[in-house]
This record gives sequence, C-alpha cells and structure tokens, in this order.
Amino acid sequence: MGPGPSDIHPRVLAALGQPVIGHLDPACVAMMDELKDLLRYAFQTKNALTFAVSGPGSVGMETCFVNLVEPGDKVIVCRNGVFGGRMIENVQRAGGVAVVVEDTWGEAVDPQKVEAALKQNPDAKMLAFVHAETSTGAQSDAATLAALARQYDCLVIADTVTSLGGTPVLLDAWGIDATYSGSQKCLSCTPGLSPVSFSERAVERIKARKTKVQSWFMDLNLVLEYWGGASKRTYHHTAPVNSLFALHEALVMLAEEGLPQAWARHRRHHLALKAGFEALGLQFVVREDARLPQLNAVYVPAGVADAEVRARLLKDYNLEIGAGLGPLAGKVWRFGLMGYACREENVRLCLTALGKVLSDMGHGVPAGEAEAAMELAYA
Ligand SMILES: *Cc1c(COP(=O)(O)O)cnc(C)c1O
Repeated sequence: MGPGPSDIHPRVLAALGQPVIGHLDPACVAMMDELKDLLRYAFQTKNALTFAVSGPGSVGMETCFVNLVEPGDKVIVCRNGVFGGRMIENVQRAGGVAVVVEDTWGEAVDPQKVEAALKQNPDAKMLAFVHAETSTGAQSDAATLAALARQYDCLVIADTVTSLGGTPVLLDAWGIDATYSGSQKCLSCTPGLSPVSFSERAVERIKARKTKVQSWFMDLNLVLEYWGGASKRTYHHTAPVNSLFALHEALVMLAEEGLPQAWARHRRHHLALKAGFEALGLQFVVREDARLPQLNAVYVPAGVADAEVRARLLKDYNLEIGAGLGPLAGKVWRFGLMGYACREENVRLCLTALGKVLSDMGHGVPAGEAEAAMELAYA
C-alpha cells in the first residue's frame, strides 16, 4: 500500500510469464495494435498517437518534453509537489524557459494563478501540470486548467501517472494535448512502461519543429515507424515484449471491470480507509475536495516515530506504506490504494495493523474503533 508499484493481479503475472515472441512477429504486432486501442479506452481518447513508451513514467515524462519543447520555448509549469519540480527540470534541459506557478504542497494547482501567468506570458507555448500529485495526494482540476490553456492558445501537457485507472482521466473531453502515465500505479502492471498519448495539435507541433529532437531514443518521429499504424514496421528498439503482454492483460481487466466501476471502487475503499484513519485520530494532508482516493497522505501524529511505524508494518504485517518526500519528509505517511491493491482485505489489514502498531508504541485508541468506523463506511 505504498505509492506504487502496486500489487499485480495473478492474471497479469501469468501473461508476463508467456514465452517471448519476436517483437516484429505478426502476433506481437497484433497485440501491440490491441494495446493501443485499450489505452485509448483508458485515456478516453481517439488520439492516433497513443502507445506505451518502453521505460518507466519518467521516460514518458521526458518523451513529452523533449518532443514538444524547442530551445527558447516558454512553458508555464505548475509545481505543487515533487513531480512538478521534475517537469521544470525537463523543460530546462530541453532548452526551454520554465515559468513556474507555485502552490503549497498538499494543495491543488490554483487556476487563478495559472490564468495570471498565462496573461503575463502571452508568448508561452505550453502549460504543464501534474493531475495527481503522488507526493501529496492532491488532485488538480485538469478540465479547468486545460480550458484556460486553450483559451490562451497553449498546448497542454498533463502528468496522469497516478490518476489513470483510479480517477477520471478524460483526455479528449478536457482537451489535453500530451500526457504520460505509468504501468505500476492504478493499472497494477509491472513497473517499466509508460502509456502516452498525443493530440493532433501536439503531433503537428512535433512535425513542425525547426530543430531535431535531441534524444534519438525518444524522438517520436522515429518511434512512430515502430508503433505506428502503417503495415510496415521497422526496427527501432527491442520492445519489452513480456511487459507489453502484462500491460495488455492489465488493460483487458480494466476494460472488463469498466472505467466508471474502477473509479467507484477506488472511491469506496478510500472512504472506508478514511473513516478508519479518522477514528485513529489521523489527519489528511489534502482538503477533502481535492483528495485522491488512490493516494492517502496523513500527518504522522505528534510524538510518533515515523520510520519505526513503517518498519514495524513491513516486518510484522508485510505491509509497505510510503514515507513523505521533500518538505513533507518525516511528517506524513502515504497509503496507496491503487489498482489491484485497492480492495477490502487491504483496508482491513491496514487499519488493524496500524492500530496495533500505534498502540504497541503507546499511541493507541481503544481497540476496534477504526474497524467499527470502517464497517460503517462499507455498510
Ligand atoms: C510515479 C510517478 C512518476 C514517475 O514514474 P516512474 O515510473 O517512477 O518513473 C511521475 N509522475 C507521478 C505523478 C508519479 O506518481
């Protein structure tokens, strides 16, 4: 129950264990085509350029920035946690100029600040933000931010690593031009793949570049000949075939469950966990209206040894949770409820284990209260 990788369903692990086939084998090509359709469903998009980058979410992030940012391009970047900071790095390393809109860690991106930045920088070409900040558990209003960017003629880059499969991600309805996600969060697949999607506007921008993309591996013009719809597929790099089998299966499972059902499941278990946490006296970092169901960050109670609690949970209950990052290091715990890990038995285990560990360390609440609050929430 950390911030990812999440547990992997046995069906996905079984798919991973299939014999490898050549990455240019017709069966593999057919599987990759299906994978693209499944990703379009997950992202709710018709974007032709939708596929899985061979690399973790960070490579997906870099793929978006190195292809869309040309030297000198001004990009408005929102930072309200760790991953917004990485976006700034990406813009700068691609030779762009980052105009940073800062928000307090734990808060959603403030659309008013973004609008002010768009007004002050009429030459800005893009707006970049993190939809679901895994470092804090805050969700930003992607629809509003994207609409603002379009009003000021900016392309929109959104990080959907933690949101995809856990809360609504509606690329086309919201008008997101480029996005990257991860295989190991709410999709509950093996780490190491990054689903990405680019709108027509983004593809036009990439095709109209005056300079070559400085990364050979991530240059979408070259990757396209490999992942593209054209019948002739040319060798670019050896795709991680078995990982793609696994992602295919994870996405089939998501489609079988249905996106609305998956979103509702994340919300249901989040509410049960929240009820239990509140009975334990824990306080959430994020205001209720911006809280991610799949990433529950709560403050470490005063006087409680953060690392010892996490170590005991791992050693005595085989339960992993996440620590705080950056300014929240040592101050918060992050409980993931992502994908296959988002189920009742984990919520039960977590509340019982945490209640016991806290009481063993002298910070207990009467036994059974967290469980009772949880039962009430489930009922
Ligand atoms: C996990 C995560 C990433 C990075 O993904 P990796 O697979 O670890 O490279 C990027 N953005 C967000 C919001 C994340 O949660």
